[in-house]
Amino acid sequence: MNTEQRGRNYDVAIVGGGAAGLSAALTLARARREVIVIDAGTPRNAPAAAAHGLIGLEGINPMQLLERGRREAASYGAHIVEASVTSATKTDEGEFVVRLDDGSSVQTGQLVLATGVRDELPDITGLAQRWGRDAVHCPYCHGWEIRDQRIGVLATSPMSVMKALLFRQWSEYMWFLPNGIDFAADQLEQLTEKGIIVVPGDVSSVEATDDHLTGVMLDKTTTLALDALAVPTTASPRLEGLHDLGVDTSESAAGVSVVADATGHTSVPGVWATGNLVNPGMQVSEAAAHGGRLAMTLNTELFFGPIDPASMANTSKKAA
Ligand SMILES: Cc1cc2nc3c(=O)[nH]c(=O)nc-3n(C[C@H](O)[C@H](O)[C@H](O)COP(=O)(O)OP(=O)(O)OC[C@H]3O[C@@H](n4cnc5c(N)ncnc54)[C@H](O)[C@@H]3O)c2cc1C
Repeated sequence: MNTEQRGRNYDVAIVGGGAAGLSAALTLARARREVIVIDAGTPRNAPAAAAHGLIGLEGINPMQLLERGRREAASYGAHIVEASVTSATKTDEGEFVVRLDDGSSVQTGQLVLATGVRDELPDITGLAQRWGRDAVHCPYCHGWEIRDQRIGVLATSPMSVMKALLFRQWSEYMWFLPNGIDFAADQLEQLTEKGIIVVPGDVSSVEATDDHLTGVMLDKTTTLALDALAVPTTASPRLEGLHDLGVDTSESAAGVSVVADATGHTSVPGVWATGNLVNPGMQVSEAAAHGGRLAMTLNTELFFGPIDPASMANTSKKAA
């Protein structure tokens, strides 16, 4: 952090500068707020070569997107610092002190958490190296790129059957790998009815040649040739150093999330949350939109105080 940024009192500090955090920063900086983004520079989709489903920027490299977002937010006066936050605490006066791994700290009135999630991968040799490339989790992010290829679906939970049925839309050459999980006969039937071949056995490694996935090894003996592997993951919130804030979390099939309302309020006054941290299913566009919505609400509440959601409730009327 440079000397201009150090020791300053910010209106808003944003921890995490992915799509959600940078979008919040852009809107807040344009609203003439003193805002700082502290970002470790490791967005969830960093292993992927391209971000898809993003109108106007379809196929952009994820790191280029963030570089561009950083420049845009900075051009309106947002301070961008590449560092990790190691702790954040609320003072008796209701402000926040945020400490960085470079030894510096900042004070802020409002704190936005936009740190995203980490995908927990099964511990299988060779899998992490293929992650985000030809080992993928999301058909909307990668389905088109692996269309008509030989796709294996590595089961990680009972929900994996749904994932396999969904990926079937992109390829008719599909294999389902229960990998030791017991599935009900009717679930397996659903797969075979769609032409998905169920292959028993433990997946012992993911094989690759010339930087391309070539298959999986089953029970350390048999190779199943594949071009791509779909791996449903569990998402863990990136809250290292931030637990002392005491924000509520909840657990669903997709993983643990910070509890926040539609505009980003958490259970702790002054602490907001956005992006994958509140919903691991959010795509880049949705995370950016949520960050922007949060920023507008936060800015409005700095003027007028907390908005009572009841005052915003719709009174429905039948169209004439
Ligand atoms: C392999 C893969 C491919 C994907 N492809 C697509 C796609 O094609 N299209 C699409 O729309 N979505 C895609 N996604 C989903 C996409 O990654 C998310 O929608 C998006 O990253 C969510 O943005 P975010 O801002 O919430 O979190 P992130 O983008 O993960 O950003 C969080 C930021 O916070 C930082 N951070 C975390 N902890 C700290 C800390 N303590 N201090 C400072 N900084 C911290 C991180 O370094 C990171 O830069 C993909 C996901 C994966 C896993």
